[in-house]
Amino acid sequence: MSNCCSGKSSKITHNDCPKCRTSCKSVEMKTLFHNLLFPDNLELPLDNYYFCASKTCNAGYFSQSITIPKQKLKVFHELQQGWLCYCFNISEADYKTAFESKNFEPIKNFVVQKTKTGDCACEIKNPSGQCCLAKFKQLEKHYD
Ligand SMILES: [Zn+2]
Repeated sequence: MSNCCSGKSSKITHNDCPKCRTSCKSVEMKTLFHNLLFPDNLELPLDNYYFCASKTCNAGYFSQSITIPKQKLKVFHELQQGWLCYCFNISEADYKTAFESKNFEPIKNFVVQKTKTGDCACEIKNPSGQCCLAKFKQLEKHYD
């Protein structure tokens, strides 16, 4: 599937979360600058960072030298609730409701279309820096 983040996946590396040991994907500095609350974003040292996506782990971003808790992220509450798409503010609960009422196609089509035309902003809006389309697919399988 073509999406806004395709072609970047080659740059992604993995590292284990220092708290929960989940394998985490690398994120670009740009993502951290936009997702950390002020003034922490101003004092962030340049490094290779990874994002722990686990809902139950309190580590947000980590490098070899520091760990930044999820509470320091702009989207802390969304992370706790389980947000599906940070570009268009769609929660997992919203999508589940739409799925159950067989009304999820327009939502998915909207997101697919916006990512095709480059009107999404996963790199900045999603704390993981990843495109959310893969997650839509995962959830569909899960609900089926
Ligand atoms: Zn973790």
